Amino acid sequence: MDAQNQILIFDTTLRDGEQSPGASMNREEKLQVARALARLKVDIIEAGFPIASPGDWDAVKAIADELDGPVVAGLARSLEKDIKAAAGALKNAKRPRIHVFLATSAIHREFKLKKAKDEILKQAVNAVKMAAALCPDIEFSPEDASRTEPDFLCEFVQAVIEAGATTVNIPDTVGYALPEQYGALIRTLKTKVPNINKAVISVHCHNDLGLAVANTLAGIQNGARQVECTINGIGERAGYAALEEIVMVLRTRKESFGGCNTGVDSSRLTPVSRLVSSLTGVHVQRNKAIVGENAFAHESGIHQDGVLKERTTYEIMRPADVGLEQSNLVLGKHSGKHAFGDQLKKLGYTLGEKELEDAFERFKTLCDKKKTIYDADLEAIADDLLECAPAVWELELLQVSSGNKTVPTATVRLKKDGKVYQDAAIGDGPIAAMTNAIDRIIGIKTKLLDFQVRSVSIGHEAQGEVDVKLECGGALVHGRGISTDIIEASAKAYLNAVCRVGTVKNKKA
Ligand SMILES: [Zn+2]
Repeated sequence: MDAQNQILIFDTTLRDGEQSPGASMNREEKLQVARALARLKVDIIEAGFPIASPGDWDAVKAIADELDGPVVAGLARSLEKDIKAAAGALKNAKRPRIHVFLATSAIHREFKLKKAKDEILKQAVNAVKMAAALCPDIEFSPEDASRTEPDFLCEFVQAVIEAGATTVNIPDTVGYALPEQYGALIRTLKTKVPNINKAVISVHCHNDLGLAVANTLAGIQNGARQVECTINGIGERAGYAALEEIVMVLRTRKESFGGCNTGVDSSRLTPVSRLVSSLTGVHVQRNKAIVGENAFAHESGIHQDGVLKERTTYEIMRPADVGLEQSNLVLGKHSGKHAFGDQLKKLGYTLGEKELEDAFERFKTLCDKKKTIYDADLEAIADDLLECAPAVWELELLQVSSGNKTVPTATVRLKKDGKVYQDAAIGDGPIAAMTNAIDRIIGIKTKLLDFQVRSVSIGHEAQGEVDVKLECGGALVHGRGISTDIIEASAKAYLNAVCRVGTVKNKKA
């Protein structure tokens, strides 16, 4: 592929994606995602917003220290303290990038920044110069660019490139643009900004009207060569342009994009999608393009018949192209640790020696309960073991009684630092009784915001996965638990969430 047609994939799952309500990840979880993104072969990973919190700074640093494939970017407002924080966190990155931004639209200038055009321009130029003195790779984003006066935007882009920006990103911050209009804006920049060829044009589209991917593609057709996106399209509000959709459109419809393509290994799309969904607690809808559970399922008889006779009658992509195994039955009782570890790696998990040992033990136990083990079961085991939340409180015993003529009652015994605590409580149902008992032991008050039970794989003996979202002392956290018993899975998920309070940051700068 020649450089002209290379579309750079800038993944911001860890920054813009993590801003989805309740999707906060801690350092260890972010590292897991970053490693999976590196294996997916994205070009740039936006690891976070270092000034936002010490936790964010730490996570960006950990990712920058470890990865040596992709460029690692950190976000900064056009302020000295932000730029210094980003440069500090990226100090050991092999290929660092500072991503600086400042809003340019009239509505943001007037109401948010209360500054005139020339002041904004000066602040941006100074910020880029400051960042360029610390880092050779600088991206600049005029926030709300799609609602900025095009003439001013051109003047602005020219000035930041002159100051040293090597990538200029044109965000549709509020998801307001239409494809034709957004494409025309990119074309305008391409033709009217005299020094535009000194920088890469990037697109950044939110999904408020469901047009994020369409707008992104219009950007590419009009000269953009970097796209910003997230796994599963997660992001604030209605989300963001989905990486997997952009990659597969370019691959499947190459001819409509002048041969443009990405360097992404599409066979890793499904594993990464699952990893992100389980670490953030943000599930993928069944009918989601590319990575939804039903994306390759042919239910109608006519379709099934057609696909069996000739796959291309109804299938434009092969399941294997996106990493979906034809048969996802993988391992059994007699599989060895090596095969087990290999399969986990294939699914996107990097476990340490000790974690792998524990995971293998659990796998063996599960094999006794369940005849067939699916990828999803392995993922559930691995997720459970990634020491993502310190297990401060451990579940020792759980006894619940419920029924239509009894008062739901739960007795819970928890262990912390070797000491055992026990209490009992009633509730409207068995789950409420269980959480009330836990609250009494720990001495907390929580508000349960979401509670979901699903089956991890298929069959009667399937493991149940419970995801909870709750609020505790102003923090929004999620937790998950698995077990073949869903009440136990609920207790584990609840405790997992409670233990996460304080390990994730919840408020943005
Ligand atoms: Zn954004």
